[in-house]
Amino acid sequence: MSMNTEKIQMKTPLVEMDGDEMTRILWQMIKDELILPFVELKTLYFDLGLPERERTKDAVTVEAAEAARELGVAVKCATITPNRQRVEEYKLSEMWKSPNGTIRAIMDGTVFRAPILADMEMFRPLVRGWKKPITIARHAYGDIYKATEYRVPEAGRAELVFTNTDGQETYRQTVYDFECPGVLQGSYNKDSSIRSFAHACFRYALDVRQDLWFSTKDTISKQYDQTFKLIFQEIYDTEYKADFERLGLRYFYTLIDDAVARVIRSEGGFVWALKNYDGDVMSDMVSTAFGSLAMMTSVLVSPDGKYEYEAAHGTVTQHYYRYLKGAETSTNPMATIFAWSGALRKRGELDGTPALCDFADKLEAASLKTITDGIMTKDLIGLLSEDYLKKVQAEGRTVEPVTSAVFLSMIRRRLEASL
Ligand code: NAP
Ligand code: MG
Repeated sequence: MSMNTEKIQMKTPLVEMDGDEMTRILWQMIKDELILPFVELKTLYFDLGLPERERTKDAVTVEAAEAARELGVAVKCATITPNRQRVEEYKLSEMWKSPNGTIRAIMDGTVFRAPILADMEMFRPLVRGWKKPITIARHAYGDIYKATEYRVPEAGRAELVFTNTDGQETYRQTVYDFECPGVLQGSYNKDSSIRSFAHACFRYALDVRQDLWFSTKDTISKQYDQTFKLIFQEIYDTEYKADFERLGLRYFYTLIDDAVARVIRSEGGFVWALKNYDGDVMSDMVSTAFGSLAMMTSVLVSPDGKYEYEAAHGTVTQHYYRYLKGAETSTNPMATIFAWSGALRKRGELDGTPALCDFADKLEAASLKTITDGIMTKDLIGLLSEDYLKKVQAEGRTVEPVTSAVFLSMIRRRLEASL
């Protein structure tokens, strides 16, 4: 073993946000097996597990998000968003808000979701032409998520009225003269939020050295969507064009329906920025087509360049209940490992500590190598391509799922060999 006995040093701590259920178990296993033996880990630890959120009346979530703003890089474990059933299960005094929602509001960020691709021959995306990852950048503010809706009960006039802060009515327009019952919706967005979204997208694309696509329906929505398009174009022209051209990258605006058709025909390898609802829908489409939620990473990027890394999936509750009964589970830790490696790499970049970036690269490589060596958790077995399974069969082998613990130990073996 060529392993260097000296641990890699860190300058600035990461903000570490622990979470719930199966992912909390994986979190500790990942740290013990893959991080602590190799890195002199410095973190500012916040326990966002539901019991601690209850104990602190959710203050811990706000403190963690503020620490992330301050230190610039955070790594987060999946957490329970309480619903009525969870209020009973955890005897909560209140139905605490989604931690991700709280953190997003404080960091004012854009969420980027990207698939982890192990081997395109082993796991064929459902869209045959896709060869490289497609990252979805979802604007996580406003639109229908903050809309005011009305179930129109009878005939009558619906109007759009604007009154300025001086109390003057400056705009009034008939939306529709209803002759029968119907539905009505008023949604909004803010220039400041659209600008933040645009900056986060351009920065992220430069960061990962990929083209940026943006799509709306501006031909139909001549004020609302058009405003998004114009703000993106203005910010691109004035602040990012030179950098994009220097790196040979492209900013590409097109109508959303045209974009959908092009995405399906593409090879992938770009960032696709989308309005809130479009991003919600398209990220599920893209992650399903690439294979598995357990192989999707997610990073929240604020307009001033603060980063929070996490897995795109939840706390994998059903596996946790089996774990509590003493069963060994085969839960896939890849997205959580990549949240750690993403955060460590970013910390290394910001602090100018290349050894940390190098470690992150090697951790990812060892994790991918484990899978391409045919060692994987149960969820991935079902996604193997027919060609791969035929090849394995021809060699007289089978692919059997391993437990999370075995999977992590196999990654560790490969990681040690590469250090
Ligand atoms: P989930 O935890 O993502 O799990 C849904 C199903 O997807 C699992 O039952 C499992 O399928 C499969 N799966 C997800 N991740 C996997 C992994 N790493 N390895 C193997 N299989 C995996 O979603 P959920 O059940 O809807 O939500 C559970 C809890 O997570 C909820 O309390 C929710 O509030 C929370 N949540 C948190 C976040 C976050 O913190 N970012 C995001 C989403 C949900 P099988 O059971 O078929 O194996
Ligand atoms: Mg969705």
